[in-house]
Amino acid sequence: MTAHTVDALLREASGVLSAAGVEGGRRDARLLLADLLDCAAGDLLTRGDAVVNAATADAFRARIGRRADREPVSRILGRRGFWRHEFLVGPETLDPRPDTETVVELALEALPDAEGRYSVLDLGTGTGCILLSILGDRPNATGLGIDIAPGALAVAAENARRLGVPDRARFARGDWTAAVNGKFDAIVSNPPYIPDAEVPRLDPEVSRHDPHTALKGGPDGLYPYRVIAKEAPRLLRSLGSLIVEVGAGQADDVATLFEDAHLRVIDVRRDLAGIARCVRAANG
Ligand code: GLN
Repeated sequence: MTAHTVDALLREASGVLSAAGVEGGRRDARLLLADLLDCAAGDLLTRGDAVVNAATADAFRARIGRRADREPVSRILGRRGFWRHEFLVGPETLDPRPDTETVVELALEALPDAEGRYSVLDLGTGTGCILLSILGDRPNATGLGIDIAPGALAVAAENARRLGVPDRARFARGDWTAAVNGKFDAIVSNPPYIPDAEVPRLDPEVSRHDPHTALKGGPDGLYPYRVIAKEAPRLLRSLGSLIVEVGAGQADDVATLFEDAHLRVIDVRRDLAGIARCVRAANG
């Protein structure tokens, strides 16, 4: 069996990925190999001549095959960095996006006291990334994460354990707010907001690898916001905030939906790409 150097394997992988139309394939290859070698991706730049054993080379090629099939690196590794933490990602969870950190940012502004004993409700919690990031920064807060997918709840509970907040986070299966009672200081959500018919046209990384229940927002993409708008007044404390992520171009429609439900829109926040990404509202 031939020995492979790091450089030779990365060259081979880059060729496979560029033939498959994957952009940034060289960087992805470095991340996937570094993980197998248990080093930082940057370290590979100075370790080009190091010899990789056959079993590792095989495992690497299998990973490159998955990436060539347009599976995102985060799904192949099973984890994704978000806010200050690393979250496990599963087949039934959305892969957390950097845009969604805008929800965390706004929620922390809405819950300004670092020692506050706030209660937070996360609708469509997925990996739990939004709720758990908030609990990580508000050590006396507690939270409830709801999801329809049992596999997502299991991943979220494991993420809570990994972040050291399992006693403050509860996860329950539910159809939005159907089984939720009580009042919350903040309701957060990154609901599915892609119009159903557009899902097959998204990048293959998304359309073929993110769970469709986590993407599809009904015929116009706004269905979850209608449910949330109807239910939020009952579930918000009097000074509580509702903070939702929206898709590009949806902020005005969502703001109108909220106002029609007698909520008061108090902020619309742009993400780092300049897209209006989050709407914050309160009881009117
Ligand atoms: N709240 C999770 C996230 O932002 C899941 C969202 C979803 O499944 N639509 O990643």
